[in-house]
Amino acid sequence: MAKEYAKDFYNSQAWKKTRKAYYIFRRGQCERCAKEFAAGKRRLEDIHAGAIVHHKEYITPENLNDPTIALSFDNLELLCDEHHNQEHKSKTKRYSFDANGRVIEA
Ligand SMILES: [Zn+2]
Ligand SMILES: [Zn+2]
Repeated sequence: MAKEYAKDFYNSQAWKKTRKAYYIFRRGQCERCAKEFAAGKRRLEDIHAGAIVHHKEYITPENLNDPTIALSFDNLELLCDEHHNQEHKSKTKRYSFDANGRVIEA
């Protein structure tokens, strides 16, 4: 789910317009499914519809108001749920704590 700090951004007209324009620009197709199809790894009928317009460089409180990150087609990617989940799972680091309460990366 959207992070708290990004709520206003995701609700903004600027984002909604950009997201819609990008969806049309990509013809509503998941870009990674289409790439896999082009590489011969996926059948045409298995190309999923795009579900989420993802930011390649993730939105943070620092870049939220920077249109070259937050609203630029160059930083967007239309993904299906499956590929979007994959993307965030692979990039999300897991942390835990050692016996002394220090953060360790799992
Ligand atoms: Zn996909
Ligand atoms: Zn994402």
